[in-house]
Order: sequence, then C-alpha cells, then structure tokens
Amino acid sequence: MWRTLPHILISVLLGQVALFVGCAGIPMQSEPVAVKRVQMQMGTLVSITAVAGNEAVAHAAATAGFAEIHRLEELMSTWIPTSELSRVNTSAGVMPVYVSPETLTVVQRAIQVAEMTDGGFNIAIGPAVEAWNVIEGRRIPTESELEALRPLVDLMSVHVDVRKQTIFLEKAGMRIDVGGIGKGYAADQAVEALQRAGAIAGVVALSGDIKTFGRLPDGKLFPVGIQHPRKDGSVLAWIDLQDEAISTAGDYERFFERDGIRYHHILDPRTLQPARSCQSVTVVAREGIWADGLDTGIFVMGVELGMQLVEALPDVEAIIVDHEGHVHVSSGLRDRIRKP
Ligand code: ADP
Ligand code: MG
Repeated sequence: MWRTLPHILISVLLGQVALFVGCAGIPMQSEPVAVKRVQMQMGTLVSITAVAGNEAVAHAAATAGFAEIHRLEELMSTWIPTSELSRVNTSAGVMPVYVSPETLTVVQRAIQVAEMTDGGFNIAIGPAVEAWNVIEGRRIPTESELEALRPLVDLMSVHVDVRKQTIFLEKAGMRIDVGGIGKGYAADQAVEALQRAGAIAGVVALSGDIKTFGRLPDGKLFPVGIQHPRKDGSVLAWIDLQDEAISTAGDYERFFERDGIRYHHILDPRTLQPARSCQSVTVVAREGIWADGLDTGIFVMGVELGMQLVEALPDVEAIIVDHEGHVHVSSGLRDRIRKP
C-alpha cells in the first residue's frame, strides 16, 4: 500500500488552490494568510494548505501536518518492515501484536466499512494485492494461484482485541493492507494537527484523499476538481467543500492493459480479480476515513448497491462513473457540483 503515482487531479487542484490563494494578494497585517507546501509521503504527493493569522503560524501548522502523516506512515505502512502493521502481518498464525490506538482505530473502522459494503471492502485482501503487484509486476496471476490465496482473504480471521489493544491474524500467510482507507485517516489526523498548531482553515490532500476545514482567506470555500477517469488531466466536476472530506478510487491511477483488458489495483474480494463495475467512485463525507474506505468498497459493490448505500447513510454523498462511463450523482450532491 501507499506506493502510488502522483495523482493528475492534484496538479489541477493545487493549481486552483494556488490561484485562489494568489488572488488574496499581499495580505494586510490583520488578514489571514495561506501557505501551501508539497511533499512526497506515503508514496504519493501530499499537499497541505494552511490558513492562519500570520505566515509563521501557517508554516508551523503545515509542518505539524506533515509530521503527523509521517508518524502514521511509520505505524501503518506495510513498506516499512518495522511498522506495527508489518509486525501484525509477520506474526500471522503465530501471535497477537500490541498496537497503537491509531492502528487499532483504522483496523476497526475498516471492519465496519467491510460490513457496510457487504464485504466489498476487505483489508485481508493483502495476499491477493501482492500476487497482482499491479505497479511493478504487470503479471496476471493464474486462477490456481489465486484459489490458493482465497482462504487467507478472510476478515473473520482478523481478531481485534480492544481491551488488550492487539490485532491477531489467525492464519499463517494472512496480510492486512490498509491502502484503501489509511490515506483518508491520515488526512483527518493531519487536519487535527494543523488546528492544534493554530491554523484556522486548510486543506490536506494525499493524492485523491482530501480533507478541508474552514474557508480560504477571501472567504471562499475550497474548490476541489474530480478527475475524469478516462480523460487524463481533465476535470469531471468541481465541488466546493467546507469541513468535509472527499476521496476518489479509480481504475486509472495504477493499471496496465493486456489484450484490451485493463488490470488495476482495486480487487474484488470475491473473485480476487480487479473489480469491474466502475471506472471511478468519489465519496464526500465528514471524515476522510469514511470517504476513503467507502470509495474502495463502493467501487467493488457497483453503482446500484453503492448508490443505495450512499442514499441510506447520513452525511455521505457520491459520484460514481460506472463501467460504461455513465455518471451517477447522489441526491445531496446534484445541486452542489459544477461542470468544468
Ligand atoms: P488509492 O487512493 O491509493 O488509489 P484506494 O482508496 O483506491 O487507494 O484503494 C486502493 C488500495 O486499497 C489498493 O492499492 C490496495 O492496497 C487496497 N485494496 C484493493 N482492493 C481492496 C478491497 N477490495 N478492499 C480493501 N482494500 C483494497
Ligand atoms: Mg479508498
């Protein structure tokens, strides 16, 4: 998890934020100022915009946001052998591992999202993600190879003990992968770090997982462009956000094509093949952890069941581009999106 290519959308988004921030001009002494900084973290481009009473506070807030994301990466990246989740994975079938409250929270929420999405979201997918290794491997695992992994992709064998603060994977060879939910959580936590450091508004964007709070110095909401899944670099729709998170799962970021078939990084836990029912799913929610978990889970569920779920959940909205390219917008978003 967390080895993604820079998200094209972000350059569009950053351009837009920069534009708005730029429009604020040279701030008067009493007016809030915005600073925007970009770093590579969690294998992707992370952009933080912090608005504060003065530039020093805004910079300190951005620094605190990056530090928080770094801290979470050290806890949960499966690319770091000493991370808590790596230790949970290497202890599969052997023993429970004591973890931080943060790791416990992400795994608990992931299990909740799995229940909500009827198993479409499943963090026990790790062995299948490795077999596909979509970024570097570009190979198609055989049916029998995937069949052998099937017993390991079993969320019932992920045991979370809240009292002892441990996670235990029951079967040797199991691996949990929070790549489908962790960046949304990191955006939430980074926003809290920005606020603790004195920011009055801001945006934290880890590629397509974005959390906003407050407004820009000129009073405008933060505009976010949603990437078109088939037109590289163009925006499907714009939406203004305030105190909300937005997250997109798409089949266009990490994929390869063979004989006209697109193989990408979101797997259907039932078939262990790339999920086929959508091109992209964008979820708007109060918190990034829900937006990120749900975008991946709904991608697997497909447009019909996915939209039913979204309409039933308070404070959750979605834009789903189905496998034929038709765009479906949930009822609460129809009046909020702008065509480019
Ligand atoms: P990204 O923003 O990195 O593209 P997504 O939210 O789209 O992330 O999630 C994709 C990642 O989630 C994959 O790279 C993999 O690590 C993991 N994943 C793939 N399929 C599933 C699934 N069905 N349930 C949970 N996680 C998944
Ligand atoms: Mg996701």
